[in-house]
Amino acid sequence: MKPLLISDCDEVLVGFLAPFTEHLDEVHAMSLELNSFALSGNIRRKHDESVVADEHVGHLLNDFFQDGMHRQLEAPGAAEALSALSSLYDIVILTNIEDSFQAARREQLRTLGMDYEVYCNRGPKGPALKRLLEQHGNPPAVFIDDLPPHHESVKAEVPRVHCIHMVADARLQQLLPPAKAADARIDNWPEARRYLEDLAPRL
Ligand SMILES: [Mg+2]
Repeated sequence: MKPLLISDCDEVLVGFLAPFTEHLDEVHAMSLELNSFALSGNIRRKHDESVVADEHVGHLLNDFFQDGMHRQLEAPGAAEALSALSSLYDIVILTNIEDSFQAARREQLRTLGMDYEVYCNRGPKGPALKRLLEQHGNPPAVFIDDLPPHHESVKAEVPRVHCIHMVADARLQQLLPPAKAADARIDNWPEARRYLEDLAPRL
C-alpha cells in the first residue's frame, strides 16, 4: 500500500494571498495589508480606509472562488514535484472551500498539471483527514498545509500522520513561524520533493 499524501491547495499548491489581494483591489476597491496573520481586520475599503467587518469576509472569499480563481498561479515546482512523487504516494487534495466549488477547484488544478482527487472541507481538517484515511484503508500518511491550526487538529485526531508546514507566499513566510504541531517546515516544492522521496520508505 502506498502512503497517502494529503495536500492543501491555497498557499501550498497555488498562491492565495497575492491573487486574493489583486481581486479585492480590482473588483471591490479594497486593500489587504497583513499586519497580522489574519484576513479579519486587515481588509479595508480604499475610498475611506474603513475596515471590512468579519461577517463580510466569508462573502468576499466565496466571491473570489467564484470569479477570481483564474488569478491563482502554481506554487513554483508544485506540479512537477507531485508528478514525481505520484510513483511513491497516492495523492489527494483536501481544501477548505464550499462543496459547490469542488468541480472548479479540480479543473483549476488539472489545468495547472495537478489532476488529483479533490475533497472539500470546512473548519479544522483533523476529522476530515481521519475519514479520508479510513476510506483509503488507513495507509501511512503525510499532510501538508499552510495553517498551523490544521496541523494541531490532524495531530489530535491521527497522531501518526507526518505533518509538513508549507507556506508558499514570501510575505506570509515572514509572518508565520513554524507550526509547533508539524514535523517539518518546508516552504518550497523542490525541497519538499526531496524530503518526501527520502521519507516514503520510512513511513
Ligand atoms: Mg491553505
